[in-house]
Amino acid sequence: MSLLTVGSVAFDALETPFGKTDKIIGGAATYITLAASYFTKKNNLVAVVGGDFPQEMIDVLVSHGIDTEGLQIKQDGKTFFWSGKYHEDMNTRDTVDVQLNVMADFDPVIPASYQGCEYLMLGNTAPAIQKLVLERMERRPKLVMLDTMNFWMDIAMPDLEAVLPLIDLLTINDEEARMLSGEYSLRKAAKVIMDKGPKTLVIKKGEHGALLFQDDRIFFAPALPLEEVFDPTGAGDTFAGGFIGYLTQTDDISFENMKRAIIYGSAMASFCVEKFGSERLVNLTQEEITGRVKEFVQLASFEIK
Ligand code: AMP
Repeated sequence: MSLLTVGSVAFDALETPFGKTDKIIGGAATYITLAASYFTKKNNLVAVVGGDFPQEMIDVLVSHGIDTEGLQIKQDGKTFFWSGKYHEDMNTRDTVDVQLNVMADFDPVIPASYQGCEYLMLGNTAPAIQKLVLERMERRPKLVMLDTMNFWMDIAMPDLEAVLPLIDLLTINDEEARMLSGEYSLRKAAKVIMDKGPKTLVIKKGEHGALLFQDDRIFFAPALPLEEVFDPTGAGDTFAGGFIGYLTQTDDISFENMKRAIIYGSAMASFCVEKFGSERLVNLTQEEITGRVKEFVQLASFEIK
């Protein structure tokens, strides 16, 4: 099965209680495709960068088996830039600066070899671009998953409302779920959001895990309590990449398999936060991933007689 991801590929400047970075490589699609690369070798990317984006990073993506034919390089443009600052508890962050640059007039061209993909990940980017990608698929993928953020809810809510009826699964964090639904209770929020289109909803709660909703069913996965958390940037995207990567690998979109996908996504996200940026995602081994998944199983399983 093959996966197509669209989303930002970016420069980020980050500040956490543990330190500060200058411009480092980030972007939703970077984290998603890197995480998914541990599950699928048919991992296709559609995104745009400027002429300032380093070839070495494209080489890193390629070395992970990510197909970059759909990565447009606008030689005379600048790469999307985002800067964020985390609060003491690292569960909340402020966006300090966003410069859309080449993403402002991105025309997502889908290479012919990407057509026919079964899994589509509409990663964080303008909702109008996410919709355009879906419209440009010659055959509707088996599963269409979308991730977005408060930034787009603030400036492009009608566009987001227009794409929601077309997707199968939405991932957002708890604050965004409240913003999108107008409900404080996440259970009520989930109902309101699923009425807007997606049959399945994942609400990410940072270090407090993730909730999976479908019809009247709910599943909860904790996040692994880690000794060191340096930088939560990209954790949500890494989660999404692990989640959809696992579904692509197993080609099973039942609720039971989505529960397992949540655990794989959470395991991948737990690696991401251990170092700044995408550094930790670049050199993982299958043994490390399997070991982490086992830790999740032990953390959350119990018997009641
Ligand atoms: P996450 O921490 O998983 O929510 O994702 C952080 C990543 O999202 C960073 O690497 C940013 O480059 C990217 N990002 C931040 N704001 C936006 C935006 N408005 N559109 C697309 N990507 C964004």
